[in-house]
Amino acid sequence: MGNSVLGIDAYREVAPKGTIDFLLRLAERARGRRFLHVNSTRYGGGVAEILTRLVPIMGELGIKADWEVIEGDPEFFATTKAFHNALQGTEQVFTEAMLEHYLEVNRANAERLRPAGDLVLIHDPQPAAMIEARPPEGKWVWRCHIDLSTPQRRAWAFLRRHVLRYNAAVFSLPAFAQQLPLPQFLVYPSIDPLAEKNRRMTKGEIAKILANLQIPDDKPILLQVSRFDRFKDPIGVINAYRLVKRYHDVRLVLAGGGAADDPEGAQVLAEVREAAGRDPDVYVLDLPSNAHLQINALQRSATIVIQKSTREGFGLTVAEAMWKGKPVIGGATGGITVQILYGVTGYTVNSVEGCAYRIRHLLSNPALMRKMGEAGREHVRRNFLVTRHLRDYLSLLVHLTA
Ligand code: UDP
Repeated sequence: MGNSVLGIDAYREVAPKGTIDFLLRLAERARGRRFLHVNSTRYGGGVAEILTRLVPIMGELGIKADWEVIEGDPEFFATTKAFHNALQGTEQVFTEAMLEHYLEVNRANAERLRPAGDLVLIHDPQPAAMIEARPPEGKWVWRCHIDLSTPQRRAWAFLRRHVLRYNAAVFSLPAFAQQLPLPQFLVYPSIDPLAEKNRRMTKGEIAKILANLQIPDDKPILLQVSRFDRFKDPIGVINAYRLVKRYHDVRLVLAGGGAADDPEGAQVLAEVREAAGRDPDVYVLDLPSNAHLQINALQRSATIVIQKSTREGFGLTVAEAMWKGKPVIGGATGGITVQILYGVTGYTVNSVEGCAYRIRHLLSNPALMRKMGEAGREHVRRNFLVTRHLRDYLSLLVHLTA
């Protein structure tokens, strides 16, 4: 597939100068070591997307990189979904049977996969208890992708016991971490500039996709790309657009997905459609999960990209938009705060009014928008590309297995 074609050298033209040579030298120090990733899904979600690219590149660099995926029944995934919510602060009920089954499934997977390596990176809570089956050799690191700052106590007390057995933990933001008596590392997530979602597109390709989506290109486009989730505040975006619309003739595109298999998402989507009403300049797009090229084209067509979340994990849509040279206005929450450099690559905002104010400010300053777009692209180049992610993981491998 694409992975073998897109080797590390393909990134020379997008990563900061010197990055690839640095990676090659770093990899030399880790050559032949076994680096195993374990998570709970091969497809869907940011973790899987990045591993799909990282693992083959590590292999190409001479690391014995592997990626295993745990298996579980619906009860197991219902419990880990409850963990996911509880660890991010929503009250959930856990029965002894649920916790016992979680451990049971982890044991069965450990038996099946026999995870081992110089470095074993266990992603997220689902496989976290596999640490109970760790062999005597090798370092084990728990890679937490979620916000652990305000967990439900019972869920965290249960999980913490397992986390304590790791050699280290990795978080995506300092604010997401917990006090733990083990070394903790910060690794930001990243985007892949060569993936369909972010790769270069010709004007013709973009125009064709916009035409297919039936979006004319005769007005500036304000865009938010997000699952239909209340924390992404799509209604707030519509309200901000309404305030802007009195002064500027713009279009609003809300592109999302995931509503089909998520009852709450369907509810939010219905509310968004209702709020959009009959305004011919508001487009609500319910996209399939593989609409990467459509999202790419939309982001490239936008004048300003908005990510008005009131609560956010990392919010990689911000980096995606900045990579395409767009100024971004985002909610001052989660990873959005480290991606948007205030007044340099865009603005973080705390209200509908603030969002509308910044949109108007930018629409009246095309030169500023261009400048911010360029600054955003460079900010992403230095901090949020997959090559930087690779450097961090290789550094961890070298550091922990020296
Ligand atoms: N995304 C997508 N289709 C959608 C909505 C979002 O492919 O309908 C992608 C988006 O481009 C980004 C990711 O899903 O790559 C969302 O990641 P983010 O961290 O912004 O938010 P999350 O959905 O993980 O909370």
